[in-house]
Amino acid sequence: MRFDILTIFPESLPGLLSVGIIGQAQEAGQIEVHIHDLRDFTDDPHRAVDDRPYGGGAGMVMKVEPFVRGIEAIRPECGPNTRTVLLSPQGRLLRQRDAQRWAALDGLILLCGRYEGIDERILHFVDEEISIGDYVLTGGETAAAIVVEATARMTPGVVGRFDSIESDSFYDEEKRLGAPQYTRPPVFRGLAVPEVLQAGDHARIKAYREAEAWKKTARNRPDLLGLDLEETTGDG
Ligand code: SAH
Repeated sequence: MRFDILTIFPESLPGLLSVGIIGQAQEAGQIEVHIHDLRDFTDDPHRAVDDRPYGGGAGMVMKVEPFVRGIEAIRPECGPNTRTVLLSPQGRLLRQRDAQRWAALDGLILLCGRYEGIDERILHFVDEEISIGDYVLTGGETAAAIVVEATARMTPGVVGRFDSIESDSFYDEEKRLGAPQYTRPPVFRGLAVPEVLQAGDHARIKAYREAEAWKKTARNRPDLLGLDLEETTGDG
């Protein structure tokens, strides 16, 4: 699978995407990540990517032409089954199932905004507008990295043991978080690893993990279970 990222800060992404499983997947040729400087697709001497907003107001708006030119230049290099995704706080919220769906594609072209966002006409040139959460970032680069991570790890072969994915949070129809995990030492500052995990009875371990996963889901994410989302602000 191929990822193409259009950004005015191409230098910001390679570090994050060259380590761990995502880095290994690139070395193994399972995924390709191409990062493009948006300014390469400008046609004025100042390589301007932004301009003042129509109707007035604070800040600058990113111009639509460099993004469209970029998409049109990248598209012929991509497989037929490629989708263009705009990262935006105004988009539909990213879900695990999006990562699963995208992992079956030939590629994704990811557009990173900055400033006040991109000229709204960009929506005529993208397939999806996606937000990574209900908060505002200064730019789409970290959001694009999140899309690459989430999608790449669903790409067959990238994560060695698929059963580790299946027990992860959100895999199970997005209704359940992952079970709590422990490693050595068996006791840390008086905190013991649950006895059942140390005893080696696999049927009991499985049942225990399942029960703990549902408990944690009910505690932290009742909304996933269709229960009322009490204001879980994290300070209670
Ligand atoms: N004025 C806009 C915010 C622009 S933030 C508004 O009120 O909605 C600047 C850029 O950061 C956006 O173009 C987008 O690419 C990125 N960005 C910010 N928050 C994001 C989020 N939650 N998800 C995805 N991208 C985001």
